[in-house]
Amino acid sequence: MRQSTLFSSTLRESPADADTASHRWLLRAGYIRQLAAGVYSYLPLGLRVLRKLERIVREEMDRAGAQELLMPALQPAELWKASGRYDVYGPELIRLKDRHQREFALGPTHEEVVTELFRNEISSYRRLPVTVYQVQTKYRDERRPRFGLLRGREFLMKDAYSFDMSWEGLDASYRGMYDAYLRIFERCGLRFRAVEADAGAIGGEGGSHEFMALADIGEDTIVACTHCEQAANVERAASGTDRQPAGAAGETTLEKLRTPNARTIEQLSRFLDAEPSRLIKTLVYAADGAPTAVLVRGDHEVNEIKLKRSLGVERLELADAATVEAVTGAPVGFAGPVGLSIPVIVDEAVARMPSGVVGGNEADMHWIGVVPGRDFPVERTGDFRNAAEGEICPHCGEGELRYHRGIEVGHVFKLGTKYSVSGGAVANDADGKEVPVIMGCYGIGVSRLLAAVAEQHRDERGLAWPASIAPFRVHLVPVALRDETQRSLAEAMYATLLRHGVEALLDDRDERAGVKFADSELIGVPVRIVVGKHAAEGNVEWVDRATGERTVVPKDEALARLI
Ligand code: ATP
Ligand code: MG
Ligand code: MG
Ligand code: MG
Repeated sequence: MRQSTLFSSTLRESPADADTASHRWLLRAGYIRQLAAGVYSYLPLGLRVLRKLERIVREEMDRAGAQELLMPALQPAELWKASGRYDVYGPELIRLKDRHQREFALGPTHEEVVTELFRNEISSYRRLPVTVYQVQTKYRDERRPRFGLLRGREFLMKDAYSFDMSWEGLDASYRGMYDAYLRIFERCGLRFRAVEADAGAIGGEGGSHEFMALADIGEDTIVACTHCEQAANVERAASGTDRQPAGAAGETTLEKLRTPNARTIEQLSRFLDAEPSRLIKTLVYAADGAPTAVLVRGDHEVNEIKLKRSLGVERLELADAATVEAVTGAPVGFAGPVGLSIPVIVDEAVARMPSGVVGGNEADMHWIGVVPGRDFPVERTGDFRNAAEGEICPHCGEGELRYHRGIEVGHVFKLGTKYSVSGGAVANDADGKEVPVIMGCYGIGVSRLLAAVAEQHRDERGLAWPASIAPFRVHLVPVALRDETQRSLAEAMYATLLRHGVEALLDDRDERAGVKFADSELIGVPVRIVVGKHAAEGNVEWVDRATGERTVVPKDEALARLI
């Protein structure tokens, strides 16, 4: 592409609202533009990177045997009501009505729709297992869209869904996706860790892993061993800049709990300035601060699934805070978001809890009432939940534990039968008996991934893309366009590269050398070929954007390296 024709322009100044390095450079280099909070256009450069990420994702999904389809963003509310999520999802779900007053939602995720598809397409175990995926725009009315593409309200996600007849089958499908994720993130040049996502107090089989890009601005805290592969997501602090240091969070929370106003979830979420859906581990406390009942940690979905499985029940009733107060005989307050000290508190709370009480959900202030008369299942699923920085790894006994900040770029999740039961997705087994299929779901935030890679691959001059996803393979920069030798050599090299299918950006603008170099650094193509004073001898300068290393090489050698 000729740079003189490029639609986007570079910005000399940092836009005021650019709150992270990646966001700043993506704006300044002309990759993206904001239309509204959390809503972005991809300019030609940005779209090139996005398409490359998509291609890697598709190749690895296809290789893992998943089939691509495309589902609508516009989804009838009935589907969401049938699964029980219309209410539970809370204000993140964008709701709208058509001209006939029929209710719809803009899909934040597609479990309901894919389950409905499955129900109508497949009815026999002979056609299982099967995994489908799509790369599609998602909508979530995030309370605090920020960091550019990292937390958008409209964003691109790859979501996949697996269907199996047995839990063992699900394990295999899950593993296939997990391995594909490792390959995807490696190919994108991302530094990341796969972590246990649900290290919460409630055990059970519904496993879940998150893939975390390592970055200081990450909103998650993970603890990882320096020696073995073991790593877990420790508690996530509230969204917002008021993150608490991991480890100290529990105390802070208890302090807050004692404030007289902290009586209801709603008040508390306001009080903590935290989105209710982010108050991940939550405790119910009596007014004096003594724990009486425990809420389930983590994602509403995981908890519900785990609780159902460990209790062996098909349904959990949702109860409101008043009911919880009635059951526990205590005013409801709660603590959250909480840090590493939570398991201790949880155990204590469980010990004091009247039998048969109470699970809970943060998402929109509902509570899960748990079937009375059964013991509340507490199982430790991870080794790491009491872990402090510097401790010897309880898993391998060799390495030390370290905390890192992470950006959640991917999430794999054993769903079980939650949606197949509510959505009627059944298949006949070998004996002709109808059973609900066992599902898994697997997400990658493709647009978030773009920003996460940018966050890791940049310096004080701009972006420095890994070759696998760079908008171009090479940036050809003739220093003085009016110098006929330079111009014709650059043009000849450009033509040769294009003929060989090498994506090249030719800076054919009649600009000062300083401007051209600054823009080139900003845009961050991995290799820059400077056609300058050595052109008369047929030589060019080869510049590695990431390391800054420069060498003078004959033009043919430069071409040979690229073709
Ligand atoms: P988060 O904890 O950051 O809010 P999530 O757990 O709600 O993310 P999932 O429901 O697991 O997200 O969705 C799958 C993937 O979609 C996430 O791992 C993430 O990469 C991406 N994603 C989620 N929300 C956003 C968003 N607002 N903007 C961009 N990508 C997102
Ligand atoms: Mg979210
Ligand atoms: Mg998450
Ligand atoms: Mg997630």
